[in-house]
Amino acid sequence: MTAPLTIVGTGMAGIGLLRQLRSLDAERSVTLITADSGDDYAKPLLSTGFAKRLPPERLATRSALEVADQLGAVVRTRTRIDTIDPATRLLHIGEERLPFGELVLATGAAPAVPFAIPDAVAARVFSINDLDDYRAFHAALETLGRPARVAIVGAGLVGCEFANDLVAGGHAVSLVAPESAPLPRLLPEPLGRALGEAFAEAGMTLALGHGLERLEEAGGDIGVIIDGASVIEADLVLVATGLRPRVGLARAAGLDVGPTGIQVDRYLATSVPGIHALGDVACVDGVNAMYVQPLQAGAKALAHTLTGTPTEVRYGAWPVLVKTALLPVVALPPLRTPARWRIEGEGRDLAAYAEDQDERLIGFALTGGCVRRKVELARAAPPLLG
Ligand code: FAD
Repeated sequence: MTAPLTIVGTGMAGIGLLRQLRSLDAERSVTLITADSGDDYAKPLLSTGFAKRLPPERLATRSALEVADQLGAVVRTRTRIDTIDPATRLLHIGEERLPFGELVLATGAAPAVPFAIPDAVAARVFSINDLDDYRAFHAALETLGRPARVAIVGAGLVGCEFANDLVAGGHAVSLVAPESAPLPRLLPEPLGRALGEAFAEAGMTLALGHGLERLEEAGGDIGVIIDGASVIEADLVLVATGLRPRVGLARAAGLDVGPTGIQVDRYLATSVPGIHALGDVACVDGVNAMYVQPLQAGAKALAHTLTGTPTEVRYGAWPVLVKTALLPVVALPPLRTPARWRIEGEGRDLAAYAEDQDERLIGFALTGGCVRRKVELARAAPPLLG
């Protein structure tokens, strides 16, 4: 008989793995454990809900109970694993000791907040990284009962998507970041500037090129102090300063962990036999892509491995589609620093090609009308994990 399987995490990785597994094995005993509500939802939709004024329940496609029923698993919600003991093969949950056979860690990534949040404003400062966070921010907007002044700190993918979504929902958005243009890790500067122009045209305030100094209480508002000089007054602050893989459990259990996640091989195996890792928490053969297509490929491969057919995961040249309707953006960031970026196009319809010394395409970025070239360019680019 195959060992019972325990999956920690019910994000797209954890539930995706269970779904794949059930297509191969209807019988195996599976327990899913999650610190959150366990609702099945597509995380990418979190940054599209405010424009459409979607209440949180519209984002959840199934409750944890329905997941348990439909996929034949035990689902334990609001249950945080405190420690993993690989020697005794026990999970520690408070005083409880839960045995595991095979274990998959799909614990995702958590917001990294690089500044202190004073108590006086903490109830009005948010990050949105899961459905519970969306519930909390949605409730804060509802309580306000009028269009909010929202300061978003961070101009990466998450910050830009929420900025676009909240402006489209009628809120007044300020975007604060130290970089001189939005999406600095995905776009070369001229394309980032084009997105910034589209944002400004839609009424957004861009406070770029200056770091956040601090947040403070300011007569009922939140004062967002930038480089000691200017102050933005906001009702709510959304912190989008990056995500860090949740590696605490794995590190404490003695698994190999690097700066970008739990180190796994192409079979998603960690350094401890019988423990695998998948999704945002896992760095697969040196690559942690932190988006949906790679984790889906991982879930598929791992389901085969766990049902007796060891299967390596491979990633194609899968570009990231940024959900900024004000100016569509698609990017395949190069895995290594390019020799040059070659940029073509006019106005906000721009194509940037990352090339190596031999003028080979190693990545690209597209804005506006040029996004339609994504398939053709992805075919010419190298895979993320070949
Ligand atoms: P998570 O969804 O973070 O799930 C982690 C799970 O682990 C949770 O259930 C949590 O409760 C549980 N957990 C953690 N620690 C413990 C513990 N100690 N005990 C028990 N349970 C624990 N990607 C795209 O490809 N396209 C997009 O358009 C896109 N848009 C995005 C928009 C936003 C706003 C965000 C935040 C991300 C977006 N992404 C997008 C990225 C994508 O959503 C993630 O890569 C993916 O959802 C990660 O899934 P995951 O299951 O690995 O992690």
